[in-house]
Amino acid sequence: MKRRDFIQKAGVGSLAAGALIAPNIVNAATQFKWKMVTAWPKNFPGLGTNANLLAKMITEMSGGRIKVKVYGAKELLPAFEVFDAVSNGTAEMGHSGAYYWKGKAPAAQFFSAIPFGLTAQEMNAWLYYGGGMELWRELYKPFGIIPAATGNSGVQMAGWFNREIKTIDDLKGLKMRMPGLGGEVLRRAGGTTVNMPGGELFTSLQSGALDATEWVGPYNDLAFGFYKVAKYYYYPGWHEPGSTMEALINEKAFNALPKDLQEIVLTACKAANMDMISEYTARNNQALDTLINKHKVKVLPLPDDVLKTLKQLSAEVVLELAARDALSKKIYDSVTQFRTQVTRWGSISEQAFLKARSL
Ligand code: CA
Repeated sequence: MKRRDFIQKAGVGSLAAGALIAPNIVNAATQFKWKMVTAWPKNFPGLGTNANLLAKMITEMSGGRIKVKVYGAKELLPAFEVFDAVSNGTAEMGHSGAYYWKGKAPAAQFFSAIPFGLTAQEMNAWLYYGGGMELWRELYKPFGIIPAATGNSGVQMAGWFNREIKTIDDLKGLKMRMPGLGGEVLRRAGGTTVNMPGGELFTSLQSGALDATEWVGPYNDLAFGFYKVAKYYYYPGWHEPGSTMEALINEKAFNALPKDLQEIVLTACKAANMDMISEYTARNNQALDTLINKHKVKVLPLPDDVLKTLKQLSAEVVLELAARDALSKKIYDSVTQFRTQVTRWGSISEQAFLKARSL
């Protein structure tokens, strides 16, 4: 006992004495000024505000040792240049969706949304406990970027259309904005896929440059006012069943942080990830009510036959992506195996319960 008392006292004493001069205390006072560039309009509900929340959490949790300043799309650079900006160090952080980077790393699409793939809860399970996060890091490593999940939209809507969709043929010749793998599926169904940032969608629908667009769900779609320029609002978002938003972190900037600040950055991303799905689940309900009752929007289901065809085409598209390179195959195998397992468990848990609740 005496020996332990001595060691404890000695330990405390040396810590107290060292605190005044230890180099790690000098480091603790170091201020890091980070720029966070985003793919969203500044302060855009849900997406832009998640970036703001993430920046605020990092700044406050670190006691101001990291100060993160958020830039909306076009403020510092265009939405689709976020990845390059974080890769080359123009910005220390980014906030976006991984499917925007299919031209740089095709397999990035696996980490935002896979048509007929994982829901929000399943996606987080795969990322945090199913090996997904390790694969994502491996994919971005050559770009000097560390990824982190920082939000999930939940199941999205199929989109806004200026015509009714009764059969798969109604998709033929349709000019629709749809990013990622869903866009490729739509192209194979005969549509013309366009990708453009959210901020340009309203005027494109209005001018007729687009016949249809998907964006997110009621909460975000109401904010853009799509109900003013398209008549039909279809569900479900087969193409984005649980889209993950990503934080991009410049690897060198991350490595320059002391350990506690690194942990704060990653933990803030996890907290922001949980925040977004909670916010969307709550606010989509209110927005849907406004769209239906105030703006008289027609909310319609895509017919089962249309969904079945889209599902077949999706399987082809995802399999082809897997064949692009060894890492894509590895990611595909991981997520496919996880989906099979989680579907089996889900059918006797969530799915069975939701059915029971609706009886
Ligand atoms: Ca979307």
